[in-house]
Amino acid sequence: DAAAGTEQAAHDQAETESVISAETREKVDGLIAEMTLEEKVGQMTQITLDVLGKGEDVYSSYEPFELDPEMMEKAFRTYQVGSVLNTANNRARTPEFWNELLSEIQGYAIEESGQDIPVIYGLDMIHGASYVDGATLFPQQIGMAATWNPELVRRAGEITAYETRATGVAWTFSPVLDLGVDPRWPRHWETFGEDPYLSEVLGYELVKGYEGEDNDIGNPYQIASCPKHFLGYSHTLSGRDRSPAWIPESQLREYHVPPFEGGGIDAGALTVMLNSGEINGIPFHSSKELITGLLKEEMGFEGFVLTDWQDIIYLYTRHRVAADYKDAVRMAINAGVDMSMVPYDFDFSRYLVELVNEGEVPMDRIDDAVRRILTVKVKMGLFETPYTVLDDYPEFASEAFADASRQTALESITLLKNEDNVLPLDPDISALIAGPAANTMRPLNGGWSYSWQGDLVDEFTEDYLTIYDAFSEKLGEGNVTLYETVRFDHDGAFDDEFVDDFDAFRQKAEDKDVIVLAVGENSYCEGEGDLDDLYLSDYQQKLVRVAAETGKPVVMVLAQGRPRIISKVEPLVPAIVNAYLPSNYGGEALVSLLFGESNFSGRLPYTYPRYPNKLIPYYHKHTENLELEGTPTGTQFYPQYEFGFGLSYSEFEYVSLSTDASSYGVDDIIEVTVEVQNVSDRDGKETVMLFSSQDYASITPPVKRLRDFEKIEIAAGATEEVTFRVPVSKLAFVNDNNEWIVEEGGFVLRVDGLEAPFTVTETQVVF
Ligand code: BGC
Repeated sequence: DAAAGTEQAAHDQAETESVISAETREKVDGLIAEMTLEEKVGQMTQITLDVLGKGEDVYSSYEPFELDPEMMEKAFRTYQVGSVLNTANNRARTPEFWNELLSEIQGYAIEESGQDIPVIYGLDMIHGASYVDGATLFPQQIGMAATWNPELVRRAGEITAYETRATGVAWTFSPVLDLGVDPRWPRHWETFGEDPYLSEVLGYELVKGYEGEDNDIGNPYQIASCPKHFLGYSHTLSGRDRSPAWIPESQLREYHVPPFEGGGIDAGALTVMLNSGEINGIPFHSSKELITGLLKEEMGFEGFVLTDWQDIIYLYTRHRVAADYKDAVRMAINAGVDMSMVPYDFDFSRYLVELVNEGEVPMDRIDDAVRRILTVKVKMGLFETPYTVLDDYPEFASEAFADASRQTALESITLLKNEDNVLPLDPDISALIAGPAANTMRPLNGGWSYSWQGDLVDEFTEDYLTIYDAFSEKLGEGNVTLYETVRFDHDGAFDDEFVDDFDAFRQKAEDKDVIVLAVGENSYCEGEGDLDDLYLSDYQQKLVRVAAETGKPVVMVLAQGRPRIISKVEPLVPAIVNAYLPSNYGGEALVSLLFGESNFSGRLPYTYPRYPNKLIPYYHKHTENLELEGTPTGTQFYPQYEFGFGLSYSEFEYVSLSTDASSYGVDDIIEVTVEVQNVSDRDGKETVMLFSSQDYASITPPVKRLRDFEKIEIAAGATEEVTFRVPVSKLAFVNDNNEWIVEEGGFVLRVDGLEAPFTVTETQVVF
């Protein structure tokens, strides 16, 4: 209809409005006009200089690093390469090391480039400048999400940008905007959890933190972001990394697009990385429909599209849709890829030149790609500041930055159980600290920390407090005993400790007032974290049982990248705390919370499953809803803890929920007012979460969806009011024709236990 048509046009117009200035365009066009085909293809090539041509084995070697002159010549003189990633043997280095490396590489590359074009250098600075020795690391994204605090996430982004830029590196492959909807997936912890809206809001903050409020990336304190991995990477059928996903278009659009659109593109993200996997039988890197059609044309993405690791050659060697490497290059570039993370060979560049000369890849596709890449380089001010020196970054590793990380850890750690008020702990007690996460920083940091798998963490974190250290500091060394276990055991890795009779443990526990068990997962990254069993490992469950048998109160602390299932041991312990991957201030933050010096305010950003066969998100269908179906306990949606769950030392009561009208048109905005009271004598922070449900719809509606949230501080005894403004168009879903539609009928808004029903009076496709 006409109204919908006009809306659509307005939406399209808004999306195609360019944010590239005339000056930038002019500079880029001038460069392109001077460039040879080889130089253009060089700009589209991203390599790594450490292992290039030497074979993958070198990747795990931690030998001192030096740039290889032969490699430099080949990369920059012969192939005019425009981008570099990693380098330095996958190991954190001092800022001064990076300064020198960047100045050397940039000096060489600019010298060799016919147009003095600097390299754009990218690294996975995932939770802080994670490849920089001494930098301020933050809780991993899953922990950031558990804070439900956009300001803290923005601040983490800003600090990461500052400390990354202090090295000379100006581009991070972050944030991950895939949905953490399946905890089997080994990259769950890299996400903001399962909810599209929460991921969108926090993704926006992280991108703005990296790139600056006005994406004023020309100043040397910001870095370019790279939302990834567009699109649907996280929701595979098997739960394993880089395995096939089958996601209907309607679901792809309703759940997976919004974090990238609202959180990435609308935030001004300069680059996007693609999904390594396949969707509905199509490898993402070969899909013109999804890369050019959806991302660039429909979503209006103006930056450049980067492949993931070796993903062009994989179209041939893994996915088998291309007959050879050259054919794979043709497919990917014609599909809309702008830059290839090659990163080990120059065949990509050679083949691409050949393909253009043979007429298989059009020249205007190459120009489009190069225009996008150079536009980013110009916007970033790389021509003026191709590298930096640490001296210009006096706040690097400052106490203020550390405080921001501490606060993020404090607001992320989530109290899941506190029977008989075991917590807060009394400062006069003695404690046994046990479990594989008790005395190491590695499981507190997770992957992408100082090295890819996080295996080097303990080498770089001597100055930080493990959980055991933090307890010792609090209670005095004489009152704290450590029971060392090093084994997390991945799938079924039973070692000597598993057959341990735990006598030493029992003995050490004997004269203690409380047992703190720090269990969970060791660090891992990508496919290395694939699992056959989501339960907490057998060894660790055994440890919980032994601890419970002592009769002492047990506090179970979970340091884990994803919710490992604990339903068999949960009833045995009175207190459970989910720490996620809180990073270097996690030990301190945890102790501060456990002793009640700080109050818990973290809330789960995912549904914590109770059984491995019931991995169902909160926005499931009514047919999966236990209450409605009246099925026996546990046969349907029956999580251990619900999405948004988290306890506090304060107690909050929702007093009222009201809307400003009882019926609305599609263009209206619903004003919702919520009153919450802190009925305890302890000040605290509460996240007010507003959900909506639709009574009936043309495709089965979810039980509820998060529409807004706000974290507020409420003093003991006080009542606070929160007002949300929810546009009715935000209640749209994607229908059978893949259109965003609002359908008339009954709706309900919910906070906590309260409900406010209203009606929508018209049906309309909104965009
Ligand atoms: C990962 C990406 C990462 C890239 C570069 C890939 O294996 O999937 O998330 O950014 O490597 O390190």
